[in-house]
Amino acid sequence: MAVVVTNECVACSVCVTACPFGAIEMQENKANITDACTACGACVENCPVGAIKREVEVSEVTIDKTQYKDVWVYIEVAEGKPRNVSLELLGEGRKLADAQGQSLAGVLIGENVAELANEVFVYGADSVYLIENTELAHYSTDGYTKAFSDLIESYKPCVILIGATTNGRDLGPRIACRVGTGLTADCTGLGIDEASGLVAWTRPAFGGNIMATILCPEHRPQMGTVRPSVFKRPVPDFARTGEVIRVASTVKAEDIRTKLYGIVQVIGSSCNLEEAEIIVSGGRGLGKVENFCLVEELAEVLGGSVGASRAAVDAGWKPAIHQVGQTGKTVGPRVYFACGISGAIQHLAGMSSSEVVIAVNKDPDAPIFKMADYGIVGDVTEVLPILTGAFKKLKG
Ligand code: FAD
Repeated sequence: MAVVVTNECVACSVCVTACPFGAIEMQENKANITDACTACGACVENCPVGAIKREVEVSEVTIDKTQYKDVWVYIEVAEGKPRNVSLELLGEGRKLADAQGQSLAGVLIGENVAELANEVFVYGADSVYLIENTELAHYSTDGYTKAFSDLIESYKPCVILIGATTNGRDLGPRIACRVGTGLTADCTGLGIDEASGLVAWTRPAFGGNIMATILCPEHRPQMGTVRPSVFKRPVPDFARTGEVIRVASTVKAEDIRTKLYGIVQVIGSSCNLEEAEIIVSGGRGLGKVENFCLVEELAEVLGGSVGASRAAVDAGWKPAIHQVGQTGKTVGPRVYFACGISGAIQHLAGMSSSEVVIAVNKDPDAPIFKMADYGIVGDVTEVLPILTGAFKKLKG
């Protein structure tokens, strides 16, 4: 949020008109910023006397880092279950917490989610912060940001890991801005920086050509979103238990500016890439949209999901939700078929943690063959129907 330095405000009302969200009103001849503030900064830029500051600037001087401890993992819930990425992050969170002699907590937000706490313990957490409320039954940016930010203000965690899912990518930066810290988005590696003891957040930068390691030395909590399927789920320990810390929800209906009218299932299991065990992906080598059905048929007979390279998505052959790679999804299936895909670094960034890679490409020198476990040199339009037919026969 932005903050008004009241003794500098000259009541010119410029900020009221400048705010695109109607979040500023005049009260007792001073600008007053309401909860509708999205921290977009329009008022800061437009105030002619510099009387509005970003909250971060104000909080910079007041952070006592020694108050912040423990590692938290946001447990994202989908269809009544924790998402895979949240369980993967419990494994990484455990390592970070142990390395720093701290404890690991899961954060569960929703309605009727208490029973999921056991699963969070089994995957490594020592405790669970539980916030339940009917207003939080479904994800909303406003509701979850408020619930999570208030929790941070009360309990002051040192590190927060959030899955880089659609909702996680929405929630993480919003919370970071609200509590005045930084966030490293879309991480593919986590560790501890030996010199400072801070979390070392690693992510691809400059088009995937370098891996950047980012530290958050001045602010707390240290926050990051982490790509799904980069880390393996830890081995569950069913003997583990932990403490449930139930926290009263501060979220009211009027805090949420969006209204959910219903959920329409527009995507089938064929694009549930992050959790798929088998993925068949197609690239530009398919030549035309009509040939993409060859990829879909192979995926169907194997019970797998359909992926696509960015070239295939850009050509309009598949919607962006199927894209695998640096700007698409990170996947880690047991088997990944790359069909007519060259193996550009940005594509590899999304699928290199697959257990077995099978590439089909007519160019024997295609880079994808360097990392594939099995390679078939041939025309996709000939090879794919043969594979599909063979797997159909095997299934009987
Ligand atoms: P191409 O590179 O054109 O390769 C096509 C392959 O098909 C070739 O190897 C060719 O030999 C083979 N082929 C042709 N005809 C046949 C045939 N009949 N049978 C068999 N093989 C055949 N890309 C992604 O995929 N995902 C991303 O998330 C992503 N993010 C990016 C982010 C940035 C910032 C940038 C700069 C690029 C990104 N890209 C991404 C694009 C990436 O660099 C490549 O351009 C893209 O992956 C190429 O897709 P492709 O392999 O399908 O096409």
